[in-house]
Amino acid sequence: MNLLPSACSPERHTRSKLGIHAAVFARPWAPAEAERAARGASRAGFEILEIPVLVPESVDSASTRELLEQHGLEPVCSLGLDESSDIAGPDPEAAARGEDLLLRALEKAHELGSPLLTGVTYGVLGRHAGPPTAHGRAAAQRVVARLAAAAADKRMRVGVEVVNRYESNLLNTAEQGIAFIDEIGADNLVLHLDTYHMNIEESDFSIPVLAAGERLGYVHVGESHRGYLGTGTIDFTAFFRALDQAGYRGAITFESFSPGLAGEHLSCRLAIWRETWRDADDLARHAHRYLADLLDSAYASSTDSE
Ligand code: MN
Repeated sequence: MNLLPSACSPERHTRSKLGIHAAVFARPWAPAEAERAARGASRAGFEILEIPVLVPESVDSASTRELLEQHGLEPVCSLGLDESSDIAGPDPEAAARGEDLLLRALEKAHELGSPLLTGVTYGVLGRHAGPPTAHGRAAAQRVVARLAAAAADKRMRVGVEVVNRYESNLLNTAEQGIAFIDEIGADNLVLHLDTYHMNIEESDFSIPVLAAGERLGYVHVGESHRGYLGTGTIDFTAFFRALDQAGYRGAITFESFSPGLAGEHLSCRLAIWRETWRDADDLARHAHRYLADLLDSAYASSTDSE
């Protein structure tokens, strides 16, 4: 019997929508690449397309909205900062550029109709030479608080994606992410977990999800090597059961990268050095089937236990 409060929630029987990151198919977000990503996502059965807004002005709002509508897709926008836009670093000019970039990315996400701006919104996505400073962490929190306030005006949410130690020195575990969010105290600031990163940093795939509870606002699923789901070491069954137990019905987005398609900048940031797959359409179809099956099993097992 399931005694969690979520069991009584009216949303209990709604189903999580499945998404896919556009970089599975193509980069950058130019017309031909955008068309390729939208067509690929929709043909594989996905309902959400995650669109990177690292350079917000490079994404054309009108044509992108049209494309999404044409393929029956909803957008979610994401980005990560770099050294030139580091809001947690010692350079005040970089911090100002970072805040400006985040606000422009938020505006773009709003124009596209995304309910969320997420990713490494709190600092540099990439390898760090040293530990974070208390001053830098506090500075990042002040910027994220202002970003969340700007998002609230647009009825949007801001996500904080917890990533592994090689991609951030600030937030590597759900516990750190929850503390970061709770200290800011904005209702529309949510935790974003990713199985690929959890596999490196967490003790298991269930405790972080249950600890996050209602603060969990977005989910990435990636395999331990970022290739085909089910061919690595991640316990997706445990993860999906925990999502169901926590009453999570938000988006679940598949993320996978191959060096040729992700683009040189992103591939280098994420240390994607070898090809784990070649056929994006096959990968996407497989991921959709795999995730839909996991959802079916997780929901079925929780119904059985009621
Ligand atoms: Mn991710």
